[in-house]
Amino acid sequence: MEIETLLDGLNDKQREAVAAPLENLLVLAGAGSGKTRVLVHRIAWLLGVERASPYSILAVTFTNKAAAEMRGRIEALLGSDPGSNHRGLWMGTFHGIAHRLLRAHHLDANLPADFQILDSDDQLRLIKRVIRGQNLDEKQWLPRSVAGFINGKKDDGLRPRDIDPLGDPVAKTYLRLYQIYQETCDRAGLVDFAELLLRAHELWLHKPHILQHYQQRFAHILVDEFQDTNAIQYAWIRLLAGDRNHVMIVGDDDQSIYGWRGAKVENISRFLSDFKGARTIRLEQNYRSTATILSAANLLIANNAERLGKELWTDGAEGEPISVYAAFNELDEARFVVGRLKAWKDEGGTLDECAILYRNNAQSRVLEEALMQERLAYRIYGGLRFFERQEIKDAMAYLRLLGNRGDDASFERVVNTPTRGIGERTVGLIREAARDQGLNLWQAAIALCERKVLAGRAASAVSQFINLINLLERDTDELPLHVQIDRVVRQSGLWGLYEAEKSEKGQSRIENLEELVNAARTFSPDEAMADLPPLTAFVAHAALEAGESQADEFEPAVQLMTLHSAKGLEFPLVFMVGVEEGMFPSQISAEESGRLEEERRLCYVGMTRAMRKLYMTHAESRRLYGKEMYHRPSRFLKELPSECLEEVRLRTQVSWAQPVAEQSRFNPRLTQESFNDTGLRLGQRVRHAKFGEGVVLNYEGSGPQCRVQVNFDEAGSKWLVASYARLEAL
Ligand code: ATP
Ligand code: MG
Repeated sequence: MEIETLLDGLNDKQREAVAAPLENLLVLAGAGSGKTRVLVHRIAWLLGVERASPYSILAVTFTNKAAAEMRGRIEALLGSDPGSNHRGLWMGTFHGIAHRLLRAHHLDANLPADFQILDSDDQLRLIKRVIRGQNLDEKQWLPRSVAGFINGKKDDGLRPRDIDPLGDPVAKTYLRLYQIYQETCDRAGLVDFAELLLRAHELWLHKPHILQHYQQRFAHILVDEFQDTNAIQYAWIRLLAGDRNHVMIVGDDDQSIYGWRGAKVENISRFLSDFKGARTIRLEQNYRSTATILSAANLLIANNAERLGKELWTDGAEGEPISVYAAFNELDEARFVVGRLKAWKDEGGTLDECAILYRNNAQSRVLEEALMQERLAYRIYGGLRFFERQEIKDAMAYLRLLGNRGDDASFERVVNTPTRGIGERTVGLIREAARDQGLNLWQAAIALCERKVLAGRAASAVSQFINLINLLERDTDELPLHVQIDRVVRQSGLWGLYEAEKSEKGQSRIENLEELVNAARTFSPDEAMADLPPLTAFVAHAALEAGESQADEFEPAVQLMTLHSAKGLEFPLVFMVGVEEGMFPSQISAEESGRLEEERRLCYVGMTRAMRKLYMTHAESRRLYGKEMYHRPSRFLKELPSECLEEVRLRTQVSWAQPVAEQSRFNPRLTQESFNDTGLRLGQRVRHAKFGEGVVLNYEGSGPQCRVQVNFDEAGSKWLVASYARLEAL
């Protein structure tokens, strides 16, 4: 292996880190300064120059995707050099590595060979059962909070026996639930995410010979994104490193964004005091972004008080200003983004160079629809697409059953969601009857009730379910689609089910359900479905969206993701949407300085994903979670230097909505400009002879062809040809 090849394409500081003697090393540097690149080159250096065995290297990455990428980069660097086979290398996330260890040493970890991993949904379900088993009220002992308690303790390395409730009855109950939950998991051979890490740590503590084995093996430990390690991960690395092994960590305190999940940015400073002779190397040149994007991001993050302090410069091009677009509403925002994506493509760019970043998952739906309308391939990264999310599938299953009782998959999905006492056994009997008599599940359920085959409690639960569906259909049939869906979601009990969770995840499920109602409100079926009843058309539309639109793996596609999952990635073109007070920073974070700083770091992470061009958009009114909200532009926008920004203004003929904020920068007001000929303006209240009153949301086309979208209070959203609709301005 040629040394030069390994040091090619690195600056002096990076070389210093890559070629450092075997020692403990911290690479502390801002976004895009090549930390991950240094880590990859260091591994290649260890293999190629230090002649380290691949078996002696352990590399920890933040996501599985990052691990795969890293492997590819190392392969590219080392090529086919026969002396540098890197197959034995361990590379993965903390969870992945812990899992691998536990599989290999399941006996020593007190686990059955076939132990199963509990994902967070499974964990919640199990916790619920434990709470009920203790005759406790789920409303008082929220499963979410219990899960939070258990996971938090595990992240801190604490078992029930290590916790002293100090006579506090509430703490005692939490503790008991933790204990029973854990016993249940142990009996069933189940391991939750936090348990993976804790067990792997205990393996070190309780089985010195195993620890010793790995200490002797992993002479070189490397960790990316170190600022987001939690207490147990730190302790695990600390033990594994012992006094002899060498640890290289790379990180950026300004990108610590998982504090809410137990990550401890202090681990960076702790490393320097705990690890013998640890040295710090700072990288200061950014290679990713234009000078404009970089100086704006630097200025933003300077508003945070608690920082280790770093310099970051670039000798790259000045680049274009950051474009800020004040959208009229979220539809306008989505169409703006799509318009720019099309322009990017027309100018020779590809879609996989582009990313759309948002604060909450629920924001993706409107963007997804706009992309689909324009047939732009997209992929949702690190999350499910809107219509594939659990709560949305639950709601859709109810709606499908209303329209078609023979939909067996939907029947199975919701017959006991929320739980109504119809157990697996009963469902089994229904299935059997259906099979034997050639009926669908719905018919079989009715038959079983009529013939009194089911036991008393099960029978009454099943007939209640049947009545519920019949009633829902009868009572909501005549209502506008969005009102109908709202009723179904609430009366079916889905709403209550998720509302009771009272946690981030439960909250996000409720938000998604609200978003579903919202989707129905603005839904207008395309031509092919125009004659169907609205519910049928909506269900078909949702099924198509869920099934087909996600780009296949090899097709170049725009990536949609939350700001959190964008960490470590980079894209030539980035859109940050919903940059508004109350969204980003979120309402809760805005009120607490610690959380506000974390939110600002998240903004820094988002901005520094952009290589060539960054758009930041905010909407003056936004219908999200079923509510109309009026947001001011985010304080983060105001913290950016004005010389790095340009406001986007669209000329009237170009598009559908007018940019606003014409008086002073970021001063929101509703757009007043009328569009061609119609005499209407966006946001205006109107009356229609048949549909009643509503608000003008959107328009397309011009002259006699001009169609306007009106959101009627009762009838929901409709597209109307302006010249026929005889809308009366109010
Ligand atoms: P983040 O903090 O976002 O994880 P990072 O510090 O890990 O960023 P990298 O992803 O390693 O940064 O590098 C950012 C970009 O700069 C990559 O495209 C990388 O290939 C490029 N880069 C890094 N160092 C150099 C260099 N010396 N010369 C040219 N390009 C470089
Ligand atoms: Mg990185």
